Amino acid sequence: MQETKVCILGAGPAGATTALQLAYMGIPCLVVDKAVFPRDKVCGDGLSGKVLTQLSRIDKGIAERLQQLVFKEDSWGVSFVAANRMGINIPYKPNYQKLPGEPRGFVCKRIHFDNFLVDEMKRCPQIRLIEGKAITKYTLQPDGYLLSDAAGTLHIKAQLVIAANGAHSGFTKEVANIHMEPAHYVAGIRAYYTGIGGLHPDNLIELHFLKNVLPGYFWIFPLPNGEANVGIGMLSKVAGKRKANLKQMLLDAVQHDPVMKERFKNATLLGNIDGYGLPLGSKKRRLSGERYLLVGDAGFLIDPFTGEGIGNAMYSARMAAAQAAASITANDYSAASLQAYDAEVYRVLGPELTMSTRLQRLIRFPWLFNMLMRLSAGNQELQQLLSSMFHEVDIRKKLASPGFYLRLLLKW
Ligand SMILES: Cc1cc2nc3c(=O)[nH]c(=O)nc-3n(C[C@H](O)[C@H](O)[C@H](O)COP(=O)(O)OP(=O)(O)OC[C@H]3O[C@@H](n4cnc5c(N)ncnc54)[C@H](O)[C@@H]3O)c2cc1C
Repeated sequence: MQETKVCILGAGPAGATTALQLAYMGIPCLVVDKAVFPRDKVCGDGLSGKVLTQLSRIDKGIAERLQQLVFKEDSWGVSFVAANRMGINIPYKPNYQKLPGEPRGFVCKRIHFDNFLVDEMKRCPQIRLIEGKAITKYTLQPDGYLLSDAAGTLHIKAQLVIAANGAHSGFTKEVANIHMEPAHYVAGIRAYYTGIGGLHPDNLIELHFLKNVLPGYFWIFPLPNGEANVGIGMLSKVAGKRKANLKQMLLDAVQHDPVMKERFKNATLLGNIDGYGLPLGSKKRRLSGERYLLVGDAGFLIDPFTGEGIGNAMYSARMAAAQAAASITANDYSAASLQAYDAEVYRVLGPELTMSTRLQRLIRFPWLFNMLMRLSAGNQELQQLLSSMFHEVDIRKKLASPGFYLRLLLKW
């Protein structure tokens, strides 16, 4: 029997960030992951500025070491292309100079990024990491949680469980009673290609609202060595209704879409096309209960518009670590006291999730995006406004309001 105050299930971005934040506060923890690292995770591999911000808040050294990682590609913005083929390039910062301190994102295969975080955990003596064991049994006892794997080879007694075991978390379903709802869940697939033509020299990540894929989107995220992550995400409710075969849709887009077939004519598919779920934060959920907290995908916190989950996983992870520290000090792991974690997560991420939910609904009206692209082509002022949307929730609020489009039509 291994005893610990805090046991973290999962060593992905959510679990690793929680453990690192605890370690840098001097609090020991035990982390268990069913995989042995390095391991792959189906993802778009896009890391926003939130990732660096969260890591540097734990310790500047971690963020600096991430900047030096050779497996990632810097990206200076996003290219949105509407169904009418009109597009705009929106840098993370207007008039950027590609200088070290400028805001930017990264694209990094998860096999490398997650392993970087695991290596960071291995530098911390306060973190005990057990790999290759899936925790599948959770028994709440008066003095803590008893956790074990299916084979009965690992037994852990923990005061507090932090479930960070991703979109398919058994803990989320069985203990927190939160289940997949097709209206708040996206089905996503990802492929790696090499040799795609027409990538932007500043590695802008591309979101294409292709007619045949709406209300989902097709993405191309440039990786090092001329590779790119290519994928499609679609609301599960829509994908289910249409009986959509996302793999076939991706291959059709690459082979038959008039623009893509040109860009992919010399491209080669590397490996398989793989899929995974994206639990969206478009519905508020209870993220804590007696002796447990849910973080990252296990707490359904993915941005419903951008599909970004890593940044939000890391935000919630640092808040979970702060809550764990407070619970240890007070020796109080009751459901009532842990509600403070829910309040903090929704105070910080709530406004952004609400705005993104509204924007996600607007994608169902392709003419709106067509209009936005048409009006913003060559319009510096409007482009700057859209550019600020990455940093300012107030701007997203504008974008999510129907009045914004009316004013846009009248003004431009
Ligand atoms: C197709 C697709 C594209 C995406 N694109 C992006 C993107 O470009 N940018 C972005 O920010 N987000 C993206 N996301 C979302 C992102 O992948 C997730 O939000 C992110 O991985 C969440 O991190 P996490 O640590 O919560 O979960 P995960 O990364 O899933 O980690 C969970 C960990 O728990 C372990 N585990 C599972 N069960 C158990 C168990 N029973 N016991 C012990 N360990 C267990 C797993 O092995 C895993 O290591 C995408 C998702 C998909 C599916």
